[in-house]
Amino acid sequence: MTETIDALAGLVAGGGVVVLSGAGLSTESGIPDYRGPSGAARRHTPMTYQVFTGDAQARRRYWARSHLGWRVIARAAPNDGHRAVARLQRGGLVDGVITQNVDGLHTAAGSPRVVELHGRLDEVVCLGCGNQTSREELDRRLREANPGFDARVAAVNPDGDVDLADDEVARFQTLDCTFCGTGVLKPDVVFFGETVPAPRVARCFDMVQRARLLLVLGSSLTVMSGRRFVLRAAKLGIPVVIVNQGPTRGDGYAALTLDAPLGRLLPALADRTVGAPAGGDVGSGVVPTGLTGVGR
Ligand SMILES: [Zn+2]
Repeated sequence: MTETIDALAGLVAGGGVVVLSGAGLSTESGIPDYRGPSGAARRHTPMTYQVFTGDAQARRRYWARSHLGWRVIARAAPNDGHRAVARLQRGGLVDGVITQNVDGLHTAAGSPRVVELHGRLDEVVCLGCGNQTSREELDRRLREANPGFDARVAAVNPDGDVDLADDEVARFQTLDCTFCGTGVLKPDVVFFGETVPAPRVARCFDMVQRARLLLVLGSSLTVMSGRRFVLRAAKLGIPVVIVNQGPTRGDGYAALTLDAPLGRLLPALADRTVGAPAGGDVGSGVVPTGLTGVGR
């Protein structure tokens, strides 16, 4: 297992790394990965853009669940994995981060140059006028509009979705945009059935094409939205390394795959390549045990 982290450190030490991260990087921050080993099957069918915009009842259900799930997302803090990625960036080895996560934790950990592919849950957009506001502000308004709304938080998914009874949903008061007065509000995240804005995708392809190495962290690469960057790198002959707990749909394209807990592997990787943290980052410096690597 020391050999596999050595192999990874050897590749990363050359610099020019672009990171593509997914839900597996945030599980240690208390945000469940519904596709990873720690997450059971997803409880709800994911909300699609078409249903959200076309069905006021479905929208009410979404916001009621999301309102309860938000407190979990809002209090989540970056973990050692996020901090190690930021350290690798400051050390000049990682040029940029593309994340599929909507929790904002890379930025919270101090990473510069993060492209949030699927948007951010802490921002809200009006579908009528395009006005953007903070989720914090909407959360205040929703709490005022729904006093005593204390439904049980049973389980939380990465998009802040929770279990909720029908009568609790029926009582939930949704809110419209305060700027235009009538517009429907939506978290500024990319829903299923919605496409990522083209300029954002182009920026990511540009980063990948300039990379010397694409490092996938905690993504099963199930959706094409992220997998396409692995396919592009492979096509261009840019090596791909995947660190994930469990197999991914990109393994066939990877020069190296590692199955390891990111909160332990990444600090060890940063220690080996850019040196011990200058303070604040509590990297263990210990090579993770139970690390299994599959070189290809
Ligand atoms: Zn509006």
